Amino acid sequence: MTHWVPELLAPAGSLEKLKVAVSYGADAVYLGGQKFGLRSAADNFTPSELREGVRFAHLHGSQVYVVLNSFLHDQDFEGLPEFLSLLEDCNVDAVIVSDRGVIEAIKEHSDLVIHLSTQASCLNAAAAKLWKDLGVSRIVLGREVSIDEAKRIKEKVDIELEMFVHGSMCMAYSGNCVISNYTQGRDSNRGGCAHSCRFEYSLTKNDEEKKYAHFMSSKDLQGIRQLDEFINAGIDSLKVEGRMKSHHYAGTISKVYSEALSFYKNSGSFMSDDLYRWEEELSKVSHRSYTSASLEHTAGFDSIFDERQHVSSEANMAAIILEAKEDQYILAEVRSPFHVGDTLEYLPFNGEAIISKVDSIIDASGESFEKSRPGMLLRLPAIKGARAYNIIRVYPGGQL
Ligand code: SF4
Repeated sequence: MTHWVPELLAPAGSLEKLKVAVSYGADAVYLGGQKFGLRSAADNFTPSELREGVRFAHLHGSQVYVVLNSFLHDQDFEGLPEFLSLLEDCNVDAVIVSDRGVIEAIKEHSDLVIHLSTQASCLNAAAAKLWKDLGVSRIVLGREVSIDEAKRIKEKVDIELEMFVHGSMCMAYSGNCVISNYTQGRDSNRGGCAHSCRFEYSLTKNDEEKKYAHFMSSKDLQGIRQLDEFINAGIDSLKVEGRMKSHHYAGTISKVYSEALSFYKNSGSFMSDDLYRWEEELSKVSHRSYTSASLEHTAGFDSIFDERQHVSSEANMAAIILEAKEDQYILAEVRSPFHVGDTLEYLPFNGEAIISKVDSIIDASGESFEKSRPGMLLRLPAIKGARAYNIIRVYPGGQL
């Protein structure tokens, strides 16, 4: 007997990250085209990349959602009908939208399935009902909603609900932040967020006391211990933040949550020693301190990350496998340098990492090196079960 689990929705900041996330178990990915999204600095998809990304995802049984979640001024609508035609032609599975005007344009010019972005800050059943009546089929709830509140919304309104389970957080109500507009002249609601909340600020009291602190920067969300609550609440999709983050992040987070959800699907429980292993894996990617934010209680002072630096990643991505010939060789592209004598970890799509010592570094033309350089194509010894888009990790200092 298998048990129902929600969809795992991962970020795809580029075509290669899409392939990594899907290969590591994401049921769906979300990505941005070159206009109308909120991550203007991301490697947004060109039309041909979009077509290839959808083809790859569908081939692996995953869905693709495209973000159109900017709040638009009248002049920004130019080109939207043509972009919608492209999305339909590419067979994307849904678009994620914030602006009511954009929803009307989508309904007028296409048959695309519409998901409401978290930017619209839907926090209650009355609003969910309204959005449903407007033609929205799924709501990405505001991050301020607890799982209990989401459960009550689900009981009152027959609509798909999506919640964030992991990643960076906004200190502001999503979609209601203009700090970047004032401090950097960049409109966060049209893709220009400069992460101004992450800067250090000073507080002055009576012109005397100055306290420098990062008091607006939130810790990162981690909801792996709340997975059974999401499931009991009937939340349809669990979303991972991070289109701007690394391949290592896209692969690791997709793998961990996918394994956890599969475990539940087969056993109906999370009472597993693997929970500690999953948490350990989540600590290996670059992150701020973790918090469960508002999933159980309203996020408060303890969710502030009052530090300058991320908790640095325990491991770096040494290389990505481009081709793996069973029992013959692996062709991999180097992303972080490593040396002969270092220990590498191959991260399979399922199961624990495979450890391997570097006896030699030989590039694709057969030349030997003592140290690899980013961008090099390497021919590595075969590893059982290795596949294209597997991540190879190296730890600082080269040893585990
Ligand atoms: S500045 Fe910070 S709070 Fe504001 S939109 Fe950007 S990430 Fe969110």
